[in-house]
Amino acid sequence: MKRILVTGGAGFIGSHLCKRLIEEGNEVICADNLFTGSKKNIEALLDNNRFEFMRHDVTKELLVEVDQIYNLACPASPVHYQYNPVKTMKTSVLGAINMLGLAKRVRGRILQASTSEVYGNPYVHPQPEGYWGNVNPIGIRSCYDEGKRAAETLFFDYHRQNGVDIKVIRIFNTYGPNMNPDDGRVVSNFIVQALKGEDITIYGDGKQTRSFCYVDDLVEGMVRMMNSRDGFTGPVNLGNPGEFTMLELAEKVLALTGSKSKIVYKPLPQDDPTQRKPVIDLAKKELDWEPKVALNEGLKKTIAYFEEVCRS
Ligand code: NAD
Ligand code: UDP
Repeated sequence: MKRILVTGGAGFIGSHLCKRLIEEGNEVICADNLFTGSKKNIEALLDNNRFEFMRHDVTKELLVEVDQIYNLACPASPVHYQYNPVKTMKTSVLGAINMLGLAKRVRGRILQASTSEVYGNPYVHPQPEGYWGNVNPIGIRSCYDEGKRAAETLFFDYHRQNGVDIKVIRIFNTYGPNMNPDDGRVVSNFIVQALKGEDITIYGDGKQTRSFCYVDDLVEGMVRMMNSRDGFTGPVNLGNPGEFTMLELAEKVLALTGSKSKIVYKPLPQDDPTQRKPVIDLAKKELDWEPKVALNEGLKKTIAYFEEVCRS
C-alpha cells in the first residue's frame, strides 16, 4: 500500500485514476480546486477511509506526506483553458513547481500528465516522442500548449538538478464516462448533441484527424508508467493510434445513438491542429502497454454514461 497524491483527481481522468488506486488498496489524497472537476465524479470514493478529498489550488504550496504524485491538475478542454488563459499558465507552471518541490522534499516519485499538444500542429506524422513539435507561442491555445511544455522543462530540470524521480507521459485525446457534458471537447459535444437531437457541430471541414483513447486504457498506461523501471523518465506517448476524421467521428456517434441530428459546419478555431496520431512503440517496449478498447466499443460505454447524465 502506498500514499498517493492525485492533483486534478476530481476531473475526468483523475476520478478514474483515484478509483483504480483505491481499488488496488492504496491511500489516496485527491487535491482539486473543482474548476472543471466535480465532487460527483468522486462521490463513490468519499466514504472510503483510505480516500481524502482536499479542495486545493496547485498554484499554492501543498504540505502532505506521500510516496507518489500524479500531477493532473489543469483544465484540458480548449473552452475551459481559454476561459482564463493566465490562470491556465499559472496552473501548469506554478503547479509543476509546487508539486516538484513536494516530490523533492518527500523524496517521492512524480508523474506529469503532459499532452500531445506539445507537438502543436505537427509537421511529423504520426508523432514520435523525439519530435519537438510546431507550437505557436502567442496564439489562443498557447496558454495550454506552452504551459505544458514549460512544465515538461521543469520536470527535466528538477530531475537533472535535484535528482527528482520523474515520469512524463504525453496523453493523446482521451474520452469516456465522467467527461463534463459542457466541457466542449469533441466526443462529449457530439454525443450530447446526438442524444438531445441538436445539430452536430463540426468545426472546419471535418477532415482534421484525432486519435481517441478510452479512459480505462489510458489509466492502465499511467499506472504502468508510474511503476516503471528506475531511470525511465519518458516522455512517453499514451494514446490510441487509430486515427479518425471529425466527420467519421460524427457519423459513428449518429449511427451508435440512432439520432436524427443534422451535421452542421462551424468555423475552425485558430491553430486547431490538422492531424494527430501517436507512435506508441516506446510505451509498448517499456511498459508492455497498448490500448485494448476500440473506438466503437468505447463510444458505446460513453454514450451509456451520457444517456444517464441527460436523464438526471
Ligand atoms: P479535467 O478538466 O476533467 O480535469 C482537470 C482537473 O484539474 C479538474 O478536476 C480541475 O478542477 C482541476 N484543476 C484545474 N486547475 C486546477 C488548479 N489550479 N488546482 C487544482 N486543481 C485544478 O480534464 P482531464 O481530461 O481529466 O485532464 C486531466 C489531465 O490530463 C490534465 O492535466 C490534462 O492536461 C491532461 N490531458 C488530458 C487529455 C484528454 O484528452 N483528456 C489529453 C492530454 C492531456
Ligand atoms: N471539434 C468539432 N466540434 C466540436 C468540438 C470540437 O469539430 O463540437 C473539433 C475541434 O475543432 C478539433 C477536434 O474536434 O479539431 C478535437 O477537439 P477537442 O477540443 O476535443 O480536442 P483538441 O483540439 O484539444 O485535440
